[in-house]
Amino acid sequence: MHKGKIEIQIVEVPCRRCGKNIRQLSHSLFGANELRDKLGGICGECITPEEDRQITEAMLGAVAELETATRH
Ligand SMILES: [Zn+2]
Repeated sequence: MHKGKIEIQIVEVPCRRCGKNIRQLSHSLFGANELRDKLGGICGECITPEEDRQITEAMLGAVAELETATRH
């Protein structure tokens, strides 16, 4: 079993702007994040470079937090 392992799931959702099905990470990385509410569920064709940069930064921050939390 994988007890204690952090699970990150891929979910399929329709893009909020064009309706195309897209795959994205489940809530795990973003958590209850304002940015996720604002920019989640938007496909790569609809997202602007500025929005994409914000998401990348948020994800990098979340990964850094995970690494810190799992370090002993
Ligand atoms: Zn779209």
